Amino acid sequence: MMRQHHKIKMEHPDLLLFFRCGDFYEMFFEDAITGSRELEITLTSRNNDRSGNPIPMCGIPYHAAETYLTRLLKKGFKVAICDQVEDPRVAKGIVKREVTRILTPGTTIEKGLLDSKENNYLGCLAENDGTVAAAFLDVSTGEFMAVEYSGADAWAKVEQELYQFQPREILLAESSMATLEPVLKKLLGPLAVYTPIPEWVFHPDYSRRLLLQQFKVSSLEGFGIEEKKSLIPISGALLHYVKHTQKTELSHINGLQLLDQSTYLKMDESTVNNLELLKGLDGNRVWTLFATMDATRTGMGARLLRNWILRPSMNTQEIDARLDAVEELAGSVIGSSALVKHLCKILDIERLLSRVTLEKANPRDLLAMRDSFRILPSLAETLLRFNSAMLHPEMDLLEDLTKILEEAIDDDAPVSINEGRIICKGYNVDLDELRHISHSGKSFIAELEAKERKSTGISSLKIKFNRVFGYFIEVTKTNLDSVPDHYMRKQTLVNAERFITPELKEYEDKVLGAEEQIIEIEKNIFLDIRNRIAGEANRIQLTARIIALLDVLHSFSEISRNYHYSRPSLDTTKRLKITNGRHPVLELQGDQSFISNSLDIDADGEKMVILTGPNMGGKSTYLRQNALIVIMAQMGCFVPADEASIGLTDQIFTRVGASDNLARGRSTFMVEMTETARILNTATDRSLILLDEVGRGTATFDGLSIAWSVAEYLISRKPRTIFATHYQELTRLEKLYEGVRNYCVTVKENSGDIVFFHKVLPGMANKSYGIEVARLAGVPSPVILRAREILKRLERKQLNVSGQNRSSTLSEEAADSLQLDLFKI
Ligand code: ATP
Repeated sequence: MMRQHHKIKMEHPDLLLFFRCGDFYEMFFEDAITGSRELEITLTSRNNDRSGNPIPMCGIPYHAAETYLTRLLKKGFKVAICDQVEDPRVAKGIVKREVTRILTPGTTIEKGLLDSKENNYLGCLAENDGTVAAAFLDVSTGEFMAVEYSGADAWAKVEQELYQFQPREILLAESSMATLEPVLKKLLGPLAVYTPIPEWVFHPDYSRRLLLQQFKVSSLEGFGIEEKKSLIPISGALLHYVKHTQKTELSHINGLQLLDQSTYLKMDESTVNNLELLKGLDGNRVWTLFATMDATRTGMGARLLRNWILRPSMNTQEIDARLDAVEELAGSVIGSSALVKHLCKILDIERLLSRVTLEKANPRDLLAMRDSFRILPSLAETLLRFNSAMLHPEMDLLEDLTKILEEAIDDDAPVSINEGRIICKGYNVDLDELRHISHSGKSFIAELEAKERKSTGISSLKIKFNRVFGYFIEVTKTNLDSVPDHYMRKQTLVNAERFITPELKEYEDKVLGAEEQIIEIEKNIFLDIRNRIAGEANRIQLTARIIALLDVLHSFSEISRNYHYSRPSLDTTKRLKITNGRHPVLELQGDQSFISNSLDIDADGEKMVILTGPNMGGKSTYLRQNALIVIMAQMGCFVPADEASIGLTDQIFTRVGASDNLARGRSTFMVEMTETARILNTATDRSLILLDEVGRGTATFDGLSIAWSVAEYLISRKPRTIFATHYQELTRLEKLYEGVRNYCVTVKENSGDIVFFHKVLPGMANKSYGIEVARLAGVPSPVILRAREILKRLERKQLNVSGQNRSSTLSEEAADSLQLDLFKI
């Protein structure tokens, strides 16, 4: 057996090998040491190896394997499951074993490992002649996407994709591991694991053939990748790997989507983070745009919502169609509550389907599928009451599949496929007959027991059954004298003897044979039905996607109604006009009522707002709320504003707050400037730029100079920009350039106290109130008093910035005034 283990381990050196021995999965040698450490299970040892050392070993019961596997996958391990592939009872010599499945973080479909509201992507990347290609596949849903970029910003764009897809595992050609793995690790941190793939897998002939076979087509043109030479090898490599690990058909993976960045509003990593779309800046998942907008009732809907947040649409027709549906649903309380009643009963068909096609689905999974399919006709009927196009999808109601499942799978079917009781009565004649034989047993035994009691005169005689000895007649020791000669002794207990008779033996053979056959037949029928369902993967998937769409549209209508949102209007101008907008997340959070604020900017007119105001005044909130309103509108949802007309926005950029990224080797100021550089290099006149404090991370005059020239550059390039700053000097831009307007957040000073109104109005702030906010924050009063004194003297220009008396440092003063001249334009 250890030779067998050794051979299989050699074929899978990088995986933990779960080696089936009886009722356990055992790990040996290094795997055992790792397994016992990671799973906190006892390390034992067995026999000795050739050099006489004990072999480390640890094991887990096979029926509890799922829990342990989940823990290992979560920690980033890959596991090979080696099962006995012949019946140990009939095997000659050592039972044959084979690796039946390989589990890896990027290919998992284990329920315990998947977040129902998030996709689980496996990625593959390659770089050739300046083109970077990436493909992503979610095995648990069948979603498959690919994209390639070339040119100077290819990596920046791929970085954006990687951040959005968040792959758990990335495949790389063996030859590029050394160069690409460190680059990706820097980008993604410890998020993903990396798997080397042999070079030959990327051969275009092989990968093209694999894709054609998988998608059952004769050309890849329909998917738009025939001409994209870099995409075929990486997409093929993903398929190859999934086939190799799952060792099953993958009928739910039946197409590939070419990603096209021009079809959606793009946001880079820092924008997604700064706007707290999916995760708060402190890591919380409660106060985010996703959580606010998520009133979905299905996992499929939640995942679609997440994808829409990351990729709002750029297609006004599509957006309008969504808005029509949302408006109709929001206006029809009865219709929408009927819809939600059905949605609530639909389970995650998409993920159930992947379990079916990957041959993991158990009878309960098929029942869950059946129950969800059963809802479809009444759901379709409910949709009849609506008029908007999106609420009238052409939905396959899968009635034939519901019928098969209803007729075949018993309501009380167990989880296991090896215990019988799966298939309904009346579904299969042979099965019914065998069941009859098996069930008639109870009365046969009762009759035989009565007959034997009578003929022997032993009133306590019992006929019993156990799994080891089968059927037997049990007689207590005190009655042994009355046992007739034809009873054959089977087993002796302390107080009783057990016997068998030819009649009982004959019955036992018949019944036990029937039970074994029943289990076998039930299992085969179940597998056949599962295969038939898998064969309809395409249809099921399309229906699942419609459910997801309805779920998200309903979710939009529910939040729009509950939070009093308004329908935005989308157009192809470059204006952005929001009347009395609110921050969708903050307005739900505070005890005080949220103060609404308006914005009106236009790339072809007044394009830049310079926003000043005290600390804590509400500048960042204002910046973010406008971006969130644009995102929500382009997703097709109503928005928290009285009115909003949104000129389509192609990218949103944010440069907010100070953060460093030491893991990626960037200091605070370097991060700030990298983000600024990206904005200046990639923004178009359709973009929306939010700058919160550019140039704060360096010396005052350096910072002010950078902020000033960044603003000038943006004015000339036309993107819509809101520039929040504490540099009062920037307000002078209003006088110098067309298209710049000053706004400020209002505040009132009341005998030393400050009152924040959070209202954004035309004009400029004359003070920052930083020291007052420091006081409110609890900075000790001697520090506050000293700060006030320094401020006064600075304002009177008695001190320079470092606190030295100016009169004694004339040359510095000269330098200061020289720099200041820059702004006396
Ligand atoms: P700083 O310059 O220090 O970064 P800021 O001007 O950017 O400050 P914000 O962070 O936007 O200020 O807002 C501070 C707090 O004020 C918010 O956390 C929120 O509680 C409150 N606030 C901001 N805007 C509003 C508003 N419109 N209505 C009600 N409360 C608001």
